[in-house]
Amino acid sequence: RMSLWAHVQQGPPDPILGLTEAYNKDTFPNKVNLGVGAYRDDEGKPHVLQCVTEAEKRLLDAHLNKEYASIQGPKDFRDASAKLALADADNALAEGRVTTVQSISGTGGLRVAGIFLAQFYNFPNKDRAIYLPTPTWSNHLPIFRACGIEPRTYSYYDKNTCGLDFKGMMQDLDKLENGSVVLLHACAQNPTGVDPTPEQWHEIATLIKQKNHLPVFDMAYQGFASGDYDKDAYAVRHFCEQGMLPFVIQSYSKNMGLYGERVGALNVVTTDPQQASAIESQLKIMIRALYSNPPIHGARIVATVLNDNDLHALLLKETHAMADRITSMRTRLVEELAKAGSKLDWSHIQRQIGMFCFSGLTEQEVQELISTYHIYLTKNGRISMAGVSSGNVEYLAHAMHAVTAHR
Ligand code: PLP
Repeated sequence: RMSLWAHVQQGPPDPILGLTEAYNKDTFPNKVNLGVGAYRDDEGKPHVLQCVTEAEKRLLDAHLNKEYASIQGPKDFRDASAKLALADADNALAEGRVTTVQSISGTGGLRVAGIFLAQFYNFPNKDRAIYLPTPTWSNHLPIFRACGIEPRTYSYYDKNTCGLDFKGMMQDLDKLENGSVVLLHACAQNPTGVDPTPEQWHEIATLIKQKNHLPVFDMAYQGFASGDYDKDAYAVRHFCEQGMLPFVIQSYSKNMGLYGERVGALNVVTTDPQQASAIESQLKIMIRALYSNPPIHGARIVATVLNDNDLHALLLKETHAMADRITSMRTRLVEELAKAGSKLDWSHIQRQIGMFCFSGLTEQEVQELISTYHIYLTKNGRISMAGVSSGNVEYLAHAMHAVTAHR
């Protein structure tokens, strides 16, 4: 047979999935996986929220049919989702000037946002740039490239303090052409775990407004960062209160543990209901050609939980418990590092927030953790705190001390 595909080269494996593969193959009994981007309980097991299980029971009992959802997803889901993100910020929801469409989780929401921007936004630069913090979630780059938008960066992380390079960030945002598209992580920045303080968000908002930039918020961790949904939405709501019209992309992967259900939403805050309606109509045209309409099960779970007082209260409690477990592991890890004899300053582990900790471990130190200690993490030194448990934190601290003692 003549090959039609001889020119197709083997692509590189996904760095995170490659790490999981190596971890799975490792036969060492105390191996540790710090690569996973999903919550694990203190036994290292995946976790299904009680409010989700209860919602699923109710859905099963209701004997619902499996007809298609509308292109933009069910209204009870969209209304509840937008409210969770925006609450009463600047009265935008009450005034009917927000468009909300269900998305294939955060990834799909970013992609649809990208396609919309590529077609309709009046970019100030020829190559249609979106400015991303450096570093950022690695998938942001291919997502926007696939939409014909050029990913560019602004300063964000300061290696010396393992904290925010606020000055560099402000300088870079100030230098951009007016009206640039700027992506911001709403909370629990991935991969650094470094967020601006509320006061820094005020200054960022003032600058972005003054420069007329378009803020695109990726909100993949609402509730999961601090345990408080309102606190984690502070930046998004503050930007609205300042009269800005952000894009807000939500994900229910982390806060509700609905990773594989692929449920999220894209919200576009606009000036008036007519604009909201026009934007919704265009988003529907795009979605129709992409995947026709969204999956129904995850949206039904989210709507059931958010629209029921008891289940909603249970969700808040359960999200808080997940965030608390992660915070307590941050404290334990710092304590165990000191106990192991490390003289280095690890306080950033406690200052950082959310699923990840940007540890400051070098690529070589990470390599040693993998090969000598069977502890798996990405080569940029990012630790998934969800992989840390009371059973492995002491071992992890000893290993981290051993590979950094030379410094
Ligand atoms: N954005 C950020 C910053 C993330 O960390 C993630 C997941 O890791 C996502 C978006 C998208 O996740 P999902 O598509 O599961 O919602």
